[in-house]
Amino acid sequence: MDVTLIIDSLNDAQRQAVTAPSQAMLVLAGAGSGKTRVLVHRIAWQIQVEDIPAHSILAVTFTNKAAKEMRSRVESLLNMSTQSLWIGTFHGIAHRLLRRHTKQAKLPDTFQVMDSSDQLRVIKRLINTLNLDDSKWPAREAQWYINAQKDEGIRARHMLDTADLHQRQMLRIYKAYEEICDRSGLVDFAELLLRAHELLRDNQDILDFYQQRFRQVHVDEFQDTNTIQYAWLRLLTDGKDNLFVVGDDDQSIYGWRGAKIENLYSFQKHYPNHQVIKLEQNYRSTGTILKAANTIIANNTGRMGKELWTATGEGEPCSLYAAFNEQDEAYFVVERIRTWINEGGLRSDAAILYRSNAQSRQFEEKLMATATPYKVYGGLRFFDRAEIKNALAYLRLMSNRNDDASFERIINTPTRGIGAKAIDDIRCIARDQSLSLWASAIVLINQRTMTARATNALIGFLELIKELTTQAPDLELYEKVKFVIEKSGLIELYQKEKMDKGEEKVENLEELVNAARLFDFDRENEEGMGELDMFLTHAALESGDNQGDDFDDCVQLMTIHSAKGLEFKLVFLVGMEENLFPSQQSVDDVGRLEEERRLCYVGMTRAMQHLYLTYAESRRLYGRESYPRPSRFLREIPSELIQEVRVRATINHPVTPIQIKNSSLQTIGSYKLGQRVSHAKFGEGVVLQIEGSGAQERVQINFKTAGVKWLMLAYANLEVLQG
Ligand code: ATP
Ligand code: MG
Repeated sequence: MDVTLIIDSLNDAQRQAVTAPSQAMLVLAGAGSGKTRVLVHRIAWQIQVEDIPAHSILAVTFTNKAAKEMRSRVESLLNMSTQSLWIGTFHGIAHRLLRRHTKQAKLPDTFQVMDSSDQLRVIKRLINTLNLDDSKWPAREAQWYINAQKDEGIRARHMLDTADLHQRQMLRIYKAYEEICDRSGLVDFAELLLRAHELLRDNQDILDFYQQRFRQVHVDEFQDTNTIQYAWLRLLTDGKDNLFVVGDDDQSIYGWRGAKIENLYSFQKHYPNHQVIKLEQNYRSTGTILKAANTIIANNTGRMGKELWTATGEGEPCSLYAAFNEQDEAYFVVERIRTWINEGGLRSDAAILYRSNAQSRQFEEKLMATATPYKVYGGLRFFDRAEIKNALAYLRLMSNRNDDASFERIINTPTRGIGAKAIDDIRCIARDQSLSLWASAIVLINQRTMTARATNALIGFLELIKELTTQAPDLELYEKVKFVIEKSGLIELYQKEKMDKGEEKVENLEELVNAARLFDFDRENEEGMGELDMFLTHAALESGDNQGDDFDDCVQLMTIHSAKGLEFKLVFLVGMEENLFPSQQSVDDVGRLEEERRLCYVGMTRAMQHLYLTYAESRRLYGRESYPRPSRFLREIPSELIQEVRVRATINHPVTPIQIKNSSLQTIGSYKLGQRVSHAKFGEGVVLQIEGSGAQERVQINFKTAGVKWLMLAYANLEVLQG
């Protein structure tokens, strides 16, 4: 047997981890040290050398993208397909379990997965039906509360009534929410995990089956598992030492969403026979990038302590660019990427990483303006767009009449004369008689209390869904989707919508037909799911990392959170400003600040060859203008590792040279070092430096209250003060 492919390209510690006999193991190591590689190679080793059948192996990773990549790497090591190997995200695997055991999981066969915006919608409606003031009880807070309880494995019935009004109200919402979901056959993301845990915990036969089936359980990014995920892993591996986890305490970045870094310690307690392997060589980044990242993370307390070194050589210093504003920042980054491409670099080797999704827009605009293909991961994903959700709601309602969220979404979209009064009446019946909205609509029709017009409109809607359902079964999935968007009147609706990007929405709907055509349906799926249900689940679970074609060569845009585990030759870590990164909510809380620092470590260590850090001196975000200070993380990097980029990019600004002449540029001649000036926002200050010329000329000013700032002279509108 030739195992050279599997073990030759590993160092000693990696090889030890890959070839160790089955036992509990923790590979604890810093970024880029080959943890994921070890996991992939170990799976291949177990299949090829230890003769463990692929279907006896379970591997859990954090994103769909990582799961796909892991499978293809195992397949190329083994040179065979591995359909029966279970590789997926926690949510994906939990979903699979629930589909296979709907009865024991106490779910209807037609249950549907809700993503978080569906969930929010259901909660909003519920807050209204409970007659609560939604300004006092915001749906988002309730959503947060409910998910946090579920992540801890706590159901509403487990919670004691309290005297605290706030707690009581939240509990009431949680209870009512559970009832609605049960009635409608809806399962949110947190519920997938919790219910899969309960399924195993409460059904000994099922647990026995999976414990025997999975001889090996592997987990990547273990530091970011939450309570319920870890509890689930423990059940599956109970009494067997077959849990193999890899992780890095310095990369724990989901504490805010319930991840428990303590799981790393609990693992060591719960699996006393475990072995720990540390990997210390980083293969990803240059010496400089690694040193900069290591220095920053050293400011955190309570680390498990790891050393990382690289044989790659120093490389170039990290580049720092102080942009005039967010547009200048985007312009600079895109220009650098264009240079990279012109010099032969691949677009997909360049990544722009940001703290918050809202930052992507500026970069997208500049990329579009220069016709540079790009892909945004996360953010408003394809399947989250309103027109797509409307089309999916039709399909979902066809599959499950009790899906209240979908019912409500499309009952009057496109408008068909069903008024707010009728919808309210349906809701009341649903609440009073504990019925689904669909059943309540039938009750309402039979009550004959509505006008003939309203009755006909409502009957028309129910008939439409029935008709779609009866006529669709023989069609291919994509034909079904096409049929539905045409028959439902959605296409027509958006074709008429001239103003509001109607054309784009029609294109998106067509893209949905295309997505259905390309959907990779596994007919042999062990859960026996139909193609439509599988497609709908895919739409709900898909975390947007599949938009566009994976093989297209595109510049990569994503939050730092979603860049976890990935690597790129050229990385831009943008918006390095106080109150943005670290985020505003974290600056006063040591624990959260340390999590932001870990996030910074994750971001920097994505870079293989070149790392650019940028910040803007003024930024418009969420419609507000601010003048942020550079991020504290920048100060934590030793100055010898950083090189400041001096050349200013030209700003795309609709001010023509003539206009400039007529405004502030007239006074340029009167600026000199030490000159006293006044600025509308920053007040009085003294000129420290003058740089550049023409439209790019800028001055550095020490303002009495606002501190030192660089301003573009052309836009600063400074007033020269005498004396
Ligand atoms: P992260 O903490 O960011 O998830 P990781 O520890 O999982 O990182 P990998 O992604 O597995 O690290 O590896 C980082 C890079 O180093 C990859 O490109 C991988 O192929 C390469 N690499 C790892 N080990 C070796 C090795 N022994 N020889 C050559 N390249 C290696
Ligand atoms: Mg990894």
